[in-house]
Amino acid sequence: MRIYNTMTRKVEEFVPIEEKKVGMYCCGPTVYNYAHIGNLRTYIFEDLLRRTLEHEGYKVKHVMNITDVGHLTGDGDDGEDKLEKRGRETGKSVWEIADFYTKAFFLDEERLNIKRPTVVCKATDHIKEMIALVETLEKKGHTYIANGNVYFSIDTIDDYGKLARLNLDELKEGARIEVDSGKKNPKDFVLWFTNSKFKNQAMVWPSPWGVGYPGWHLECSAMSMKYLGAHFDIHCGGIDAIPVHHTNEIAQSEAANGIKNWVNYWCHGEFLLNDSGKMSKSSGEFMTLSLLIDKGYDPLDWRYFCLTGHYRSQLRFSYESLDSARSARLSLVKKVAEMLGSGKAADTLSEKGAGYENEFFSYMTNDLRAPQALASLWSMLKDSSLKDNEKVRILYDADEILGLRLSEIEPLKEEKVGGEEEEKLLQERADAKKNKDYKRADEIRAILLERGYKVVDTPKGSVLEHV
Ligand code: AMP
Ligand code: ZN
Repeated sequence: MRIYNTMTRKVEEFVPIEEKKVGMYCCGPTVYNYAHIGNLRTYIFEDLLRRTLEHEGYKVKHVMNITDVGHLTGDGDDGEDKLEKRGRETGKSVWEIADFYTKAFFLDEERLNIKRPTVVCKATDHIKEMIALVETLEKKGHTYIANGNVYFSIDTIDDYGKLARLNLDELKEGARIEVDSGKKNPKDFVLWFTNSKFKNQAMVWPSPWGVGYPGWHLECSAMSMKYLGAHFDIHCGGIDAIPVHHTNEIAQSEAANGIKNWVNYWCHGEFLLNDSGKMSKSSGEFMTLSLLIDKGYDPLDWRYFCLTGHYRSQLRFSYESLDSARSARLSLVKKVAEMLGSGKAADTLSEKGAGYENEFFSYMTNDLRAPQALASLWSMLKDSSLKDNEKVRILYDADEILGLRLSEIEPLKEEKVGGEEEEKLLQERADAKKNKDYKRADEIRAILLERGYKVVDTPKGSVLEHV
């Protein structure tokens, strides 16, 4: 298995910390609104990664958080809590908002056949762990208090920004625009807020620094380490998480643990674009999976669409390309149904069949090259020297990763034309033809025609059709 590591900017051989096991943490949704289809593209990429690892025989412990507190409208500790804001706008409690959108999120995941993470953890259930992490950082001298908030001091570590390869001198230049005068360095970030700009903040907890709430980055460090240990294999997210969120997660986790390699592989999915650039909840049409369903698409059309682009390339949304994805998926479904009509999937593969199957998996295990893997399946389907039942077997095996629910497709049942008597006549005609009694064969053809059935000779034998 080879995968691109954002930390080294290289495609690397995947070597697990523990043999045949993978600890994988994926930043989950902020549940103040529906996920848009760009967010869902990122979760589909993570699902492909998980499924490919599982296919390679790894037992994957997949942990995903639910951000239900602390995510501010601005990444640099500015703005207000997204859930609080939504609650105020809708007159609902933050807990109702979080519960509603968490359910909506998992419904979308299910519709897209995304495997449910092994552990789903809510930020608000892990305040104790977050406070303990800040205490550790405080003991080790990485924090300071200003304006009542606890900050992480990036100058206490020597490699801040290594994931994003940030140029810190350039960042210092930008310090003039910084609004938070309490920060010693503009890139310092809040670990714990006690001094909220919003007096009626609903989600607050007691802490050694006063009543308040955690900074956003803290939850991912605290929860990933709780469920995966102080050093684990893979951390995923969208590329927008690289410069701030993941950078700060690394800073605080490595400082707390006293290590330099908190996570071995950092994997990021590229953006989905629309006409206004990066798809987001606030610009252009707010595109949810439900919107596509309302327009008559199947959720798996969206999954197929995502498979047509490599996860590290930007993908542009348009209804025309979604239509192409839909027709490709439907023709795959039709082919499987037809092939199943003449027998079930083969148990074993010929050398040629195995060649095709290996080709598919070698694309997927080489940095999840799904577009090439799909193309290789289409060439396999066109190969007339390969038996249908082998083709179905290869598609079933490939679908363990593709997740297009191909194994749920029912065989196409040929409509039965004619009754028992007509069937007997057809058999009698076949026997007559075999005995070169063409006169009798023609007589039977005429009788059947009188009854409303036409005899059609096909390579597989004679069949009846309605006239
Ligand atoms: P959020 O719910 O805003 O925290 O975002 C959830 C995930 O979606 C994060 O991993 C983001 O990086 C990712 N994301 C946000 N916008 C896009 C986009 N346009 N295309 C792909 N992924 C995105
Ligand atoms: Zn995160």
